[in-house]
Amino acid sequence: MEPKPQYRILVVDDHEDNIELLRARLEARGYIVDGAADGQLALDAVDKCIPDLILLDVMMPKLDGIEVVRRLKTNPALPFIPVIMQTALDSTENKVEGLDAGADDYITKPINFAELEARVNSLLRIKALQVALAKRERELSDLNDKLREISLTDGLTKVDNRRSLEERLHEMWEHHMRLHEPIALVMCDIDKFKSVNDEYGHQAGDAVLQEFAALLKSEAREIDRVGRYGGEEFLLILPGTVLDAAVTFAERLREKVENHTFSFTNGTLRRTMSCGVAGSPHPRIRDQESLLKAADEALYVAKETGRNKAVRFDSNEFNAHTQETTKPDAKEPTAEPVLAGAEKRGSTPPRGTAAQRA
Ligand code: GH3
Ligand code: MG
Ligand code: MG
Repeated sequence: MEPKPQYRILVVDDHEDNIELLRARLEARGYIVDGAADGQLALDAVDKCIPDLILLDVMMPKLDGIEVVRRLKTNPALPFIPVIMQTALDSTENKVEGLDAGADDYITKPINFAELEARVNSLLRIKALQVALAKRERELSDLNDKLREISLTDGLTKVDNRRSLEERLHEMWEHHMRLHEPIALVMCDIDKFKSVNDEYGHQAGDAVLQEFAALLKSEAREIDRVGRYGGEEFLLILPGTVLDAAVTFAERLREKVENHTFSFTNGTLRRTMSCGVAGSPHPRIRDQESLLKAADEALYVAKETGRNKAVRFDSNEFNAHTQETTKPDAKEPTAEPVLAGAEKRGSTPPRGTAAQRA
């Protein structure tokens, strides 16, 4: 059988004799008893050691019981401490006032000990249930946090997954619109990654993806979001970053990857990556979708024009390439290339989502 828990009861009364009487009876029943001779001493005692229950006299000089219970029950730092008020037999007013102030029960003086014990036990039972409930709530809330984290994290690389990236981009786009702070995206894709799997096996491919993600993460700032957009394609969301700075950053990343040696169980290998960079505010960007699309299309141009490079979505290289691919007839003059909105992209080869491409 589990040992009975020892409960601590604080008896507050301005008559020392009353405290001692209750102490003797309660200790005989196995409770630990503390005494306090006035309201302030009661609050001090609670500060020092939180009791499981308080037996509180209403009529006390200076700080009376009503005020003590009010302070205890409005202190958010304290757990639920059941309070039983001790009131005079005929004092309905005290009872009502005490219960209104937050007392959980009352007992009239002179105290009938059997009745007191029954009330103490009943409140301690409620308290135990309440403690168990609070513990369950904490466990549930922890579990919820963990589940949410799992649902937003890429299992292999431990960076944000696509869903999380989309949520973050939405939030950061809203922030960008509200506060007119710049925002930039860098879409990265490992070059010739398929050959890693083909030559070294899928496990080596996984290890490279993990190392690649860690490298991106270590280069990004705390406020940037780094995530796996699909397959071997990663997206960096850079809040508060102007396009020029994002291009410099992407170029630095590209160089890091180029000079990095990836290692896996049975060897090492080198790979390069290509990036597409887009930013807002920009006359061609009107919403978060067009921003994402611009980064994606710039990545496509980086791949088409040789790989191992970072292409900016409004660069001459991008425009030249887009014009070339959108020109329906070489003799006809072409309009300025429009990036945002698939409906205007002419015959630019459609790029599916990263997930489709992976
Ligand atoms: P490119 O330079 O044009 O990007 O060529 P690529 O080979 O990198 O691109 P492609 O899209 O042809 O191939 C991507 C490969 O990534 C194919 C797919 O099997 C592999 N891949 C996608 N997800 C994973 C993964 O979780 N683990 C491993 N090992 N491979 C993956
Ligand atoms: Mg690739
Ligand atoms: Mg790819």
